[in-house]
Amino acid sequence: MERKVDTIIALATARGRGALAVIRVSGEQSHQIVERSICEKRKFSGSKPGMLKRYTMIHESGDELDEVTAVKYQRPRSFSGEDMVELICHGGEEIVREVLGRLVSAGARYAGRGEFTRRAFENGKTDLVRAEAINQIVNARSIEGAGGAVQAYFGGYEDRIARWEDLLVQTIGHIETIIEFGEEEDIEECGATDSAVGGIETVIREAEEEIERRNRLLEAEKGIEIVLVGPPNAGKSTLFNRILGYERVLVHEERGTTRDSVSERIRIGGVNSYIIDTAGVRYADNEVEKMGVERTWDYVRRSGVIVWVTAANEKFIEEELRILNECAHRKNIIGVVNKVDQSEGSKKGEWFRQEGIECLYTSALRKKTTGNLVEAIGKMVAEIAKHRDSNTIIWSERQEEVVLRMIDYLRNGRARFPNQMEIIAQQCREGLGCLEEFRGKRTTDDILDGVFQ
Ligand code: GDP
Repeated sequence: MERKVDTIIALATARGRGALAVIRVSGEQSHQIVERSICEKRKFSGSKPGMLKRYTMIHESGDELDEVTAVKYQRPRSFSGEDMVELICHGGEEIVREVLGRLVSAGARYAGRGEFTRRAFENGKTDLVRAEAINQIVNARSIEGAGGAVQAYFGGYEDRIARWEDLLVQTIGHIETIIEFGEEEDIEECGATDSAVGGIETVIREAEEEIERRNRLLEAEKGIEIVLVGPPNAGKSTLFNRILGYERVLVHEERGTTRDSVSERIRIGGVNSYIIDTAGVRYADNEVEKMGVERTWDYVRRSGVIVWVTAANEKFIEEELRILNECAHRKNIIGVVNKVDQSEGSKKGEWFRQEGIECLYTSALRKKTTGNLVEAIGKMVAEIAKHRDSNTIIWSERQEEVVLRMIDYLRNGRARFPNQMEIIAQQCREGLGCLEEFRGKRTTDDILDGVFQ
């Protein structure tokens, strides 16, 4: 990282074309640098912090560059804790480049990754957990991911961490009492040892629940997988395209055109998901086909929603029934009897219903029927998302590692030295240290580099 006194700039809005773009300038020279780059110097130097005003940005030559609005902040009352300016210019890619270039020629330099937030952290404007929450808010790919990170930003983790700290402090207290009075009375026999360490069990259990919720959150961030499976030529690729609303996959008369799987991101039922078109389920007679079919199996095993597509005008094939029988008990499966413009397909529909599987009749050539399918998938996806308890306090790999380490200390102390109270108390102290780390109170430069980059 460069010297702290440098004045840094960065585009705060997304790169690309837009009506407006926001550029942030932070550092000792930020006010002077902006003043140098605009026409109305007096107006800017005389404006109060927090006041938004319009200025003409100029080239070094004095020619107009863009019309901007700017607001200045006086340290320490700014995001980074330093003197800052936020500039709003027009959002064209070229103009943004020009404005940034102008600020550099006036004395600023481009910020490194996470440098603004790191300065905010170093100036006490944010703590580590909030900095991590900001990162998650910006990068979240699911509503759970974004919403939970906002809670973390506002300190949503505090209660839980404080509860664990209380439990561990109480445990240490109990153990110290036992050690002090243990010789006079046989405390272990009257169960005091168990009650002393009961708090440890609670912390371990709750911490493990947090880790589970974190895993569910990571799943949610990946998106729910909706997989289209069925025999070749049933109309999977055509339905895939219909659902996505555009031609994504080559649709062909010849059987087995979709040799491998194709996936696309889709927002359906209000949830970010993936939809996957798989190679047809059939007897594979060469290596490439075998690999394709094997991958389809993998998708079936792990997917959130299985859409089983089969043609109304054909019988179930052997391979199809084999897989269907194995996954029919799953709740997340929708049976689709496609090509109903060719044949009724009621026997197949009957089969699905007897297995307790929701069944839809579609013709990929008719919009209305595919609309029903989109609706059914959306409902299922929304239901899965609703029951996914991913409201965790763990928002970064760093926090996860710290919680796992705490669990290790607590579990090892108790398991390996069940009667050595001193050691158990020491492990509790280590656990407390982890919680301090969680809050970002104990850090090293390596940890900080990891977080801010
Ligand atoms: P996949 O192998 O399961 O992916 O099947 P495709 O989507 O490639 O479709 C195979 C053939 O069936 C293509 O010629 C499609 O145009 C046709 N097809 C797909 N759905 C329907 C349908 O509902 N009705 C009719 N008549 N043809 C369809």
